[in-house]
Amino acid sequence: MEHPENSEEYKGLTVNAGIEQPSIVNPYLKLRKKPKRREFSVGEYVEGILQGNMTVLSQAVTLVESLKPEHQALAQEVIEKCLPHSGNSVRIGISGVPGAGKSTSIDVFGLHVLEKGGKLAVLAIDPSSERTKGSILGDKTRMEKLSVHPKAFIRPSPSAGSLGGVARKTRETIILCEAAGFDKIFVETVGVGQSETAVHSMVDFFLLIQLAGTGDELQGIKRGIMEMADGIVINKADGNNIEKAQLAAAHFRNALHLFPTPDSGWTPQVFTYSGFYGLGIKEIWDMIDDYFVFVKKNGYFDYRRNEQAKYWMYESINEHLRDSFYHNPTIETMLKAQESNVLNGQVTSFVAAKKLLDTYYDLMK
Ligand code: GDP
Repeated sequence: MEHPENSEEYKGLTVNAGIEQPSIVNPYLKLRKKPKRREFSVGEYVEGILQGNMTVLSQAVTLVESLKPEHQALAQEVIEKCLPHSGNSVRIGISGVPGAGKSTSIDVFGLHVLEKGGKLAVLAIDPSSERTKGSILGDKTRMEKLSVHPKAFIRPSPSAGSLGGVARKTRETIILCEAAGFDKIFVETVGVGQSETAVHSMVDFFLLIQLAGTGDELQGIKRGIMEMADGIVINKADGNNIEKAQLAAAHFRNALHLFPTPDSGWTPQVFTYSGFYGLGIKEIWDMIDDYFVFVKKNGYFDYRRNEQAKYWMYESINEHLRDSFYHNPTIETMLKAQESNVLNGQVTSFVAAKKLLDTYYDLMK
């Protein structure tokens, strides 16, 4: 057949005979399906995880993050079986605004803690990834040395769902990592507010990375976030920035004095360091080690973990109730109508809400 581009009407270049796109060599190739990745059974997942098999762990985390109901059910079974093998780790939250030096610091912090042996998992909660799909904390290569370290497991933030949903998945991933023998867990987050609260609710120690600014650095940071911190570290204390960093540290120390002593009884410490040049790293980790000795002795360590378990039980209930309500097809249709009624001023918000809830309760009977 003559090539279509050689027809009279075609104004472009002509195609010489013999060099057209050849037909597919094996016409049956298209019919062959891509081999599916074999799915593991619950037993296989659990066995692989307990053996510390990173590939199985990685697939189990993918299962936890999946939105498919059948995957979620399977994931819950795996988590439940891993639960008795979890808990034996130190969980550290690391927060700071973009550019504070989290990746650079985690890379050196990670190598430092791995010097003493053990295994490290670096997880993340990145609220930006729900909206934009582009995760700030998603890029593995940000931690150059850790990403190739055989004892490190780096996982970007789960990206789908509400912050609560994303945080729950990270919390479940912690359980799987611990069952796989990871005795050090870092949970990284971007310093933007709500995500700190989520991270705080799943870690034993909360480290806040700050930068020296123009002397008014305290203004940009919310009081609530500072109150959560068990340690504040001022990064980039190198070159001609050392003095500024020390000044910032003094500011933070003064500010912390004004806060009441936290429930842990531990007074948050402030240090300066340089992630890039690896200066002051040991001092920070000695402080964190001291913290763990302190809270294990005074009982706060167990108390905090119990409180967190309780918190997550209520969070799960809330999440399920919300899902069940908002994903109910009748409610979904009714919501739109009620919303416009409220906007038109035909009914009050409270009446609309009551109508919706009453309908929902009737449906649940
Ligand atoms: P993140 O966005 O919080 O993960 O920050 P990065 O780790 O990507 O660091 C942001 C920028 O700051 C990069 O250009 C780093 O090279 C630089 N940086 C990080 N740590 C230090 C440090 O200790 N000293 C100096 N001078 N620069 C640093």
